[in-house]
Amino acid sequence: MEELLKKYYRPKLPHMWCPGCGNGIVTAAIVKAIDQLGLDQDKTTIVSGIGCSSRAPGYLHFDTLHTAHGRALPFATGIKLAKPDHKVIIISGDGDASAIGGNHFIHAARRNIDLTLIVYNNNIYGMTGGQYSPLTPHMAKATTAPYGNVDRAFDLVNLAKGAGATFVARSTTYHAKQLSELVAKAIMHEGFSVVEAMTGCPISFGRQNKMGKPAALLAWQRDNTISVEAAAKLKPEQVAGKILIGLMHEEVAPEYTAEYAKVIKQAMGGER
Ligand code: SF4
Ligand code: MG
Repeated sequence: MEELLKKYYRPKLPHMWCPGCGNGIVTAAIVKAIDQLGLDQDKTTIVSGIGCSSRAPGYLHFDTLHTAHGRALPFATGIKLAKPDHKVIIISGDGDASAIGGNHFIHAARRNIDLTLIVYNNNIYGMTGGQYSPLTPHMAKATTAPYGNVDRAFDLVNLAKGAGATFVARSTTYHAKQLSELVAKAIMHEGFSVVEAMTGCPISFGRQNKMGKPAALLAWQRDNTISVEAAAKLKPEQVAGKILIGLMHEEVAPEYTAEYAKVIKQAMGGER
């Protein structure tokens, strides 16, 4: 632990996350994945948008970019096109990725560009005071929905798959080891990879929805999820209401920066 802290984190504590926030668990899972893969820190770039989770790159000892709200993916796309040999990891929140950045999300997936997007899904806009996001569950409470959110939530996994992402996974802060393993696989996947990390926000979402102490949010994740492998052995009615976790989708498809390099070669008078 000490070694990981020294190697991968900037000596800039304290951080701004509330006590009991799950963001530290997701960030640690990413760091462990990077360490396990032995990535070159000078060739690993971490990009974020705006929000509680998007503060994470500021604590990490890599080349990092803290961009505008919802716009992490366009910045990351530019970095990947300029430095195709770099691993580019994007940290985003549920509102950042699926509302303000929703357009960028579907088009990065459609292009199959080799970026890894980790969505810290705490079901709410935490930093700005607890407004509902497209991932706030139906009828859950938010400051902008004190009687319950009438919108239906996106299923981020299905949205990513439908838009063309070639690696899609979901896990939770309760399942931190699995989360880290899935992040490692996503980083090594050649194409657009998305990992939805379900995380607890005890202050905004938890309080408004009377979910109890931070440990109770972790217990909620344990009790309301099921692995895709376990679900496959059960009847549909036995998994009704449970959230699937694990590797949800993986396929091989042409990668955008490689395809773009071919076009540049042609334009420069190379082979057709
Ligand atoms: Fe974490 Fe929620 Fe606090 Fe933001 S508001 S730091 S997500 S607990
Ligand atoms: Mg959020």
